[in-house]
Amino acid sequence: MKTNKPVCVTGASGFIAAHIVRELLERGYRVRGTVRKKAENYPFLLSLPGAAERLELVQADLLAAGSYDRAVEGCDYVMHTASPYKNKVKNPQTDLVDPAVNGTETVLESCIKSGTVKRVILTSSIAAITDEPDSTKVFTEKDWNTMSSLDRNPYHFSKTVAELAAWDFIMKQRPAFDLVVINPFMVIGSSLGPSLNTSNEMVRDIMIGVYPGIVDINWGFVDVRDVAKAHVLAMETDTASGRYLCSAEAMHMRELVALLKSAGFEGYALPKINLTGKAGTVLMKALSFTQPKNIGMYIRTTIGRTMRYDNAKIRRELGISFKPVKESLIETVNDMIKWGHLPPQKK
Ligand code: NDP
Repeated sequence: MKTNKPVCVTGASGFIAAHIVRELLERGYRVRGTVRKKAENYPFLLSLPGAAERLELVQADLLAAGSYDRAVEGCDYVMHTASPYKNKVKNPQTDLVDPAVNGTETVLESCIKSGTVKRVILTSSIAAITDEPDSTKVFTEKDWNTMSSLDRNPYHFSKTVAELAAWDFIMKQRPAFDLVVINPFMVIGSSLGPSLNTSNEMVRDIMIGVYPGIVDINWGFVDVRDVAKAHVLAMETDTASGRYLCSAEAMHMRELVALLKSAGFEGYALPKINLTGKAGTVLMKALSFTQPKNIGMYIRTTIGRTMRYDNAKIRRELGISFKPVKESLIETVNDMIKWGHLPPQKK
């Protein structure tokens, strides 16, 4: 046990954070999770094994100055995961960037005020590494997304400027705590709560006919339990430092669709038309202009390119090994059926 004080997890109601809470409770830690509503609204957290004795939920909001003072008070370790992850927003500045950046600074200021915090583990994203796969390059923790803006991939922009703000804060304020950052790719897996998060929703979209065909795109996937474990290992490993790209292997949409078919999900509206060639990519780029602005931009900056990255640092320094993506994908689908996010398939 690294600490007998509560470990603070911001945004405990979220897909990833709920698993961090579960992982910490399983390892015997006390946990103080932050949520936006009253504690009784989160029975899925309150009923986790160990929660009755060791989980406390407190209210906090990323946009309210001083909101996290109470949450981090007396803690040695803080995991800051709360941040909006949405593809459809009205105003990227107020809906994404402000809560991501101001929220990160607010949490870090509370950590300074606490006088007890030793380390903050921040959930950043592959989005802060790049928003544009580059077929000639293997991405690592050394890379920074320099392309995104409020107009171009605003979610990626929000994660980039939030992580930059965190490192800038550490450099300028020189606090008594250090910062370790986890940069996951597309996080999938079973959800502890009833909400459908954005990355699992992407898998659902493939199954309900949102994509016109199989397009030339690949994603890195990582199981949510591995992401939770990475956060806890980043706390428990004294020598952990810097950023950790957190992803198992990448998978092309073609393989993903074939896997889902062979796993018995062929009754869903899985894409059939092959659009992976050059003509398909040109067609998809033309169609992208019919989509909402940020989705269209995402299509134009990712389709027709191969994403490659190196996860050696997290495996070597945190000793993590990743669950095979194929298993996680099948679990994700069964879990979405269980929660009613996907109707049972037609036989
Ligand atoms: P969720 O949408 O499930 O969780 C987001 C969390 O942030 C929720 O607890 C939400 O609270 C909280 N939140 C949002 N806005 C505010 C606010 N103004 N004040 C307080 N809390 C707020 O997303 P994930 O679990 O998927 O993502 C968690 C983190 O991981 C995010 O930082 C995301 O960028 C990052 N990430 C996610 C990846 C993925 O594939 N899922 C990949 C890489 C990084 P509420 O429940 O009340 O809405």
